[in-house]
Amino acid sequence: MILVYAETQDGKVKKSALESVYFGSKLAALNGSSCVALMLGPASDGGKLGAYGAAEVLHAADEKLASFDTSTHAKVVAAVAKEKGAKVVLFPDSANGKSLLGMTGVLLNAGVVSGVNKLPEALSDHLVVSRALFSGKAFADCSINSDVAVISLAGNTIKPVAEGSEASVTAITPEIPEAKTRVLDVRRTVGTVPLPEAEIVVSAGRGMKDPSNWGIVEELAEVLGATTACSRPVADSGWRPHHEHVGQTGIAIRPNLYIAIGISGAIQHLAGVNSSKVIVVINKDPEAPFFKAADYGIVGDLFDVVPKLTEEIKKLKSAG
Ligand SMILES: Cc1cc2nc3c(=O)[nH]c(=O)nc-3n(C[C@H](O)[C@H](O)[C@H](O)COP(=O)(O)OP(=O)(O)OC[C@H]3O[C@@H](n4cnc5c(N)ncnc54)[C@H](O)[C@@H]3O)c2cc1C
Repeated sequence: MILVYAETQDGKVKKSALESVYFGSKLAALNGSSCVALMLGPASDGGKLGAYGAAEVLHAADEKLASFDTSTHAKVVAAVAKEKGAKVVLFPDSANGKSLLGMTGVLLNAGVVSGVNKLPEALSDHLVVSRALFSGKAFADCSINSDVAVISLAGNTIKPVAEGSEASVTAITPEIPEAKTRVLDVRRTVGTVPLPEAEIVVSAGRGMKDPSNWGIVEELAEVLGATTACSRPVADSGWRPHHEHVGQTGIAIRPNLYIAIGISGAIQHLAGVNSSKVIVVINKDPEAPFFKAADYGIVGDLFDVVPKLTEEIKKLKSAG
């Protein structure tokens, strides 16, 4: 059986939960086992995980699990995994998922692999999974030789599809250890999809010349339903908020589409974005290093190209 930790936020399952459950169900199908989803803390819409492949949804709704605490959540996941005889425990490769991975692995005496980025073609005696190394410059196939495997799934690895019907949700009441930490307050940036979850990212760099020019970037992002990002010097200069900074020292992302505007493509920037599925680069310098990593490139002045691109996308959208 494959146990999937289904992440929730504000009482609803997150996109990462749909991806993890869908991936878990495809993995389970390889050897005829089943995928069971586990939700911790108050949440109301767990039934929909059934449509994405969960044969069963377990829900420990206790208020004590509402505030995320690595040690508490890991102990509950490990206890449920032991009780149900799970052979694989799957987390999303999100901040919380990553923090649960190691501790759950230790509690289950399991081999641990983070950032799995591909569905295995077959299951042999040992689970063999693939992950990216060195910011996507190399890939490793890892064999997990323990009885139980604990893995995390890189975001956007699989597009979740609702193929089945809702599952019934089974309430469970596991023993909940005392939390060692407690989140008192969360101040969230509002408006767009958070960068790690975004499918489309429109990002801009120092080529924008001045923060007052960002309107054209925001407009392009808006027509595409994208999240905005930026290079480090842009955030360091206070042109854009620090949570938008992507790269080696910022957030590492792997959206389906990354549009880089007026960004040179320094290695430290690429480290955080070169796992994106499709990269489009707009730069006036044909020698800009980013073009080597690009799937599509436009050599031109961004102040000319970006508004035209936005207009064309608007036309396409209004044409249906
Ligand atoms: C330890 C370390 C860690 C780092 N971590 C990060 C990181 O996490 N993320 C990160 O981004 N950087 C990081 N950096 C900085 C990195 O090395 C680069 O300096 C930075 O990415 C450059 O940002 P940029 O491309 O926006 O600016 P620039 O290098 O100044 O490039 C601007 C680009 O805009 C183009 N341009 C200018 N005008 C126009 C126009 N009108 N139309 C079209 N194109 C135009 C130029 O041709 C140029 O390619 C790090 C550096 C170090 C040393």
